[in-house]
Amino acid sequence: MEDYTKGPCPKVLMDKNLSIRNHRICIVKADLGPPNPRAPEELFWIKKSIVFGVPSSMARQMVCGNCGHYWKTLMIDKCMKDHEQVTPPEVDPSWVDTGDGGGYCDLWDIPCTASRTCDDWEPGGPITDARAKEHMAEEEND
Ligand code: SF4
Repeated sequence: MEDYTKGPCPKVLMDKNLSIRNHRICIVKADLGPPNPRAPEELFWIKKSIVFGVPSSMARQMVCGNCGHYWKTLMIDKCMKDHEQVTPPEVDPSWVDTGDGGGYCDLWDIPCTASRTCDDWEPGGPITDARAKEHMAEEEND
């Protein structure tokens, strides 16, 4: 598996068109959202509670920011700062830009907002510089 604590930036963080394309794939295939993480978005979270098999209140805590696919390392932060990133309304006009921090999702190959989520959420994140070695060892042993 890739190590996103060093090396070149993921291409998607340097290519807005690719980023928009990958976001749209993730929306269709894994219901990435919700459009407005600050709003109740009841239907979205009911659907996620069914997918995750937990109460809706718990599903709301299962977000990109603590997902095991979400990289939040110094390198990713620098990549996102050095290159213009897609804004949520560019992905979909109904999407709200919350100004929340973002990281890199290694499953869907997208920069994602910490407060959104998708059907493929799994525990173990965020993957920080301090956690990266341990995380990669765990993945290899799986
Ligand atoms: S896999 Fe995880 S980090 Fe990637 S979009 Fe889904 S919830 Fe977010």
